Amino acid sequence: MKWFSVVHLLLLAYIIAALTFWWLSLEKQSGIIYNKEKAALTLLVDSADAPKAYAKMHEDVALRRAKRSKQYLGEGLTFLVVILIGSSIVYTTYRFSNQLSRQQHNFMLLVTHELKSPIAAMKLILQTLEKHKLDEDKKKQLLSRCIEESDRLNELCNNILVASKMEGGQYQHELEQCSLTELAQSCYDIYNARYPNRFEAQINANLTVRTDRTLLQMVINNVLENALKYTPMGKPVSISLLQVNNQFLIQIRDLGLGIPDAEKKKVFDKFYRIGNENTRATKGSGLGLYLSKKIMHYLKGDIRLKDNKPQGCIFEISIPS
Ligand code: ADP
Repeated sequence: MKWFSVVHLLLLAYIIAALTFWWLSLEKQSGIIYNKEKAALTLLVDSADAPKAYAKMHEDVALRRAKRSKQYLGEGLTFLVVILIGSSIVYTTYRFSNQLSRQQHNFMLLVTHELKSPIAAMKLILQTLEKHKLDEDKKKQLLSRCIEESDRLNELCNNILVASKMEGGQYQHELEQCSLTELAQSCYDIYNARYPNRFEAQINANLTVRTDRTLLQMVINNVLENALKYTPMGKPVSISLLQVNNQFLIQIRDLGLGIPDAEKKKVFDKFYRIGNENTRATKGSGLGLYLSKKIMHYLKGDIRLKDNKPQGCIFEISIPS
């Protein structure tokens, strides 16, 4: 990348130097022509009958020189502007495609890693079940872990699929009359069954809206999944649904470590994860919040992040009523 910027700057400097050189050379040549024409006029002066005619010819020679100077400068500057515009287009296109290919590379690494780990976990569980005679409780425990891993795999595949469809402008939304009360309640029920005693809910009754149910469910699931991942065991996560003026608000609160102000905007960027590979203890792809933001814009709503009290995050999903 750096070498491209250096070569690009060197080429631009060369083009500007070459243009200046050609402009100076042409000016010099124009000066020579002017002097020659003036000298030819001086030879003619004796034979010129009228001083007025001589003055007119002299003026014409000076005018032609001024015209040439303007022409050289005008053409040179136009050429320079065209080159600068062209080179800035090439430069930005190169930078953009470079950034895109780096992102795609990171994405492939992350996705492969994220896809492989639940598959490996499921395989291990199934091999354990196949090889060992286990009591019912242990079997149940392993099977529910297997289901958890397959849910994780399913959610990741859905996120990838919807993100790529939305980015390619191919996503066909399915707007339908949807009971937000039922949707929030069913998300709560599923998570509460999977992680007993970790969730609290406060869901207002009879709230309905015209929206894409599948997309909205994905957003709620992404945020609930994060609240679980980034909150220490034993601390509750709450989900509430309410109406404020002409908006429906779904708020998901956790008592985790929270997100520093400097990171609040960045967590919605594609592939962004706080910390680095060595310090992160949780699994993830950095796609969930990016996709959630994209979906909420698509649904003409929003997703905002606030600080919870005394600690943790509040993710607020707003849907116009
Ligand atoms: P990931 O797959 O990494 O969870 P997300 O896009 O869902 O990707 O989240 C981006 C980052 O935002 C996460 O890596 C995490 O660092 C941070 N984050 C998201 N939700 C929470 C939360 N509830 N509490 C603390 N940090 C969070």
